[in-house]
Amino acid sequence: MKTAFADEAWRSPPGEAIAEISVFGPGKGESIVVHLGYGHWMVVDSCVDRDTGRPVALDYLAALGVDVAHQVAVVAASHWHDDHIEGLAEVVAAGEHSIFFFSVALQSHSFLTLVKAAGERSMMEKPGAAEFAKIIRVLEDRVRSRGRFFAPQPALAHTLLWRPATVEAHNWPPTSRVEALSPSQRSIEVGLQEIAQLLPTEYTIKRRLTNVTPNHTSVVALSVIGQAIALLGGDLQETGSPVHGWSEILASGRRPPEKAGVIKLAHHGADNSDHPDIWTELVTAEAVAALAPFNPGRTPRPSPSDVDRICANAEAAYSSTDRPDVARKRRDSHTERILRGRRHSIRSAVGEMGQVRLRRAFNDDGAAWVSELFGAATRLCQPQSVA
Ligand SMILES: [Zn+2]
Repeated sequence: MKTAFADEAWRSPPGEAIAEISVFGPGKGESIVVHLGYGHWMVVDSCVDRDTGRPVALDYLAALGVDVAHQVAVVAASHWHDDHIEGLAEVVAAGEHSIFFFSVALQSHSFLTLVKAAGERSMMEKPGAAEFAKIIRVLEDRVRSRGRFFAPQPALAHTLLWRPATVEAHNWPPTSRVEALSPSQRSIEVGLQEIAQLLPTEYTIKRRLTNVTPNHTSVVALSVIGQAIALLGGDLQETGSPVHGWSEILASGRRPPEKAGVIKLAHHGADNSDHPDIWTELVTAEAVAALAPFNPGRTPRPSPSDVDRICANAEAAYSSTDRPDVARKRRDSHTERILRGRRHSIRSAVGEMGQVRLRRAFNDDGAAWVSELFGAATRLCQPQSVA
């Protein structure tokens, strides 16, 4: 985000009654920064800006003039994949008065054992576990010095991650809150079974931490700030089973009634994290979609077909980072062959940090979300042509 630091627009904070959803990502990692109104902020997940070596959320909030120690109300870890937690311990430590929420599966004895084993063995090889080991230390210190209020909070479907404090509540429209829609108790049980398979046997860890898919226990959160409603999808996957993932949220009788005008797409826009009913039941027909891509690995996300699907459903869609193979999805087969030969270099380049910033007035029924793109961020869909 080097280019953004000198940008006046980038540094201008939202007004008190303007909600903001910012999606940051360098192509491997994501961090979501939310303005809840009246100078209260929330950070979900973390990634580090290679230009500054710091969590991008902290750089951004500092540029806006936010006092992170007092104004960040919530820090949340949607799940413990490496691409969502790099630098998160630094964010948790800086948010001195924040409450830390995490997917409840992480609270288990199994997980703590795993973190401890991996943290002591090799911090470099197991960045996911090492980051959580750091967070646990930060929180243990905080609990010791300040008491239970600052203890980490497990997030479960229907947990309130935030709502205005009673003394301040008159400032916000009455329904304002951030509510978790997942994980459910049932999906936690599945997640724990997966974690159990990773436990050290005879003092060795059988598989790399990041090989499992704890996306079943990813926290999905609905941020309702008056009329500014956003669905933060974490990495929650959809398996087709009615008792997991998006199907379970969609079928829940306790699902909140609000439809979101913004969706942070789950799992970097991958098709295995989508469900057709999300687009009719959970978001409005005019919903704006934002994602952070995931470039490394066998299947970079979003794939060209992911982009087609997203653009068929969303009014507009944005990615935090440009990706050559998305931009060139209409290329001919010759170009395809050349690019395939270069695939290794494309994949190993994580890419420049970018930010999709969406803001709207939350007290105004007729207000629209305003999008701004910074750094390497890009529009994914061509605007609908008007006949
Ligand atoms: Zn991810």
